Amino acid sequence: MRRKRRINPKYQKYKTKEGEEKHIHARVGEKKYGYDKIPKNFVIHHIDENKDNNQRFNLILLHKKDHKRLHKRKTLKIESVQPSKLKKKNQNA
Ligand SMILES: [Zn+2]
Repeated sequence: MRRKRRINPKYQKYKTKEGEEKHIHARVGEKKYGYDKIPKNFVIHHIDENKDNNQRFNLILLHKKDHKRLHKRKTLKIESVQPSKLKKKNQNA
């Protein structure tokens, strides 16, 4: 299934070789966690909430629900599933 990729102007973006626009933080997050693409229902969050700080250590993979909760309550309590069951790139099972 193909996901619609939304480009949000609040984030820094770049152009891929294919000429597609992509968020920098998403790319850095994918690399950090070893995914080709951020798993469905997961987002990359900026820990310091500075959308321009796209360094690895500032990015964390969160479930959408946790992400929402985090922004709303300013606390992070992860209750939902982690994406461990999804196939990762370069992983020897
Ligand atoms: Zn966030």
